[in-house]
Amino acid sequence: MTERMTDRMELLARSVPELGLELNDGQLELFEVYYRELADWNQRMNLTSVIDYSEVQVKHFLDSLTLAPALGGGLAAGTRVVDVGAGAGFPGLPLKLACPDIHLSLVEATGKKADFLRHLVTALGLPDVAVYTGRAEELAHRPELRAGFDLSLARGVAKLPALLEYTLPFTRRGGRVAAWKRGAIERELDAAQRAMQILGGRLERIYPVKAPGLTDNRIVLTVEKIKATPGAYPRRPGMPAKQPL
Ligand code: SAH
Repeated sequence: MTERMTDRMELLARSVPELGLELNDGQLELFEVYYRELADWNQRMNLTSVIDYSEVQVKHFLDSLTLAPALGGGLAAGTRVVDVGAGAGFPGLPLKLACPDIHLSLVEATGKKADFLRHLVTALGLPDVAVYTGRAEELAHRPELRAGFDLSLARGVAKLPALLEYTLPFTRRGGRVAAWKRGAIERELDAAQRAMQILGGRLERIYPVKAPGLTDNRIVLTVEKIKATPGAYPRRPGMPAKQPL
């Protein structure tokens, strides 16, 4: 533990410049707090199987930040971001730590995970973060959330057709969705064509992640929102995954 404190988030600190980002000492300290809270809560509930100190820095923190090069830079101040299926906070919270002036909303269906997220937001002292407990299928119909975001994120949540049904309704026209994927995605992309069309999305970019330690064919895929999503979507809870568009 003492050892660890001396090389605080060193792996992360060394790697972020490759993404075109910088983290100051205060930000690295917050990532350290994030790690400690994650490790602590993970003993009592299953938040993540990746919990080794080095692995969390790379596979959770750095991986979350690969959005920056995928978009061609960090997130501008004031950008309204929603992370759908945030789980233990990835990718939304690392992005909030790296780009503190974004407005972040976290959507998480599991109450206990949402409890962790609320605890973490307090422990990190983060302003401008809202945590919603609930399913995207319901929350995306709330007038104050619908089409209310410039950027909707999802990592490890669903195959593309369902993922788009969860995220595009939250996204304003002219905004975009970013999805973290791994491996060959051609078939998944083909299968998502219909969902794109119905929900008002258009594939923007397939960005192959280049970052130290992330060598397993990770991709950040961005989808532009080109027209409004019809009011019928998302369908009722469970439907997007059970009967993909
Ligand atoms: N994004 C995190 C968690 C991935 S696990 C990460 O990359 O580490 C997927 C998470 O999405 C789970 O916590 C699950 O509860 C949540 N989830 C799945 N479907 C959802 C939905 N329709 N609405 C809200 N949350 C959902």
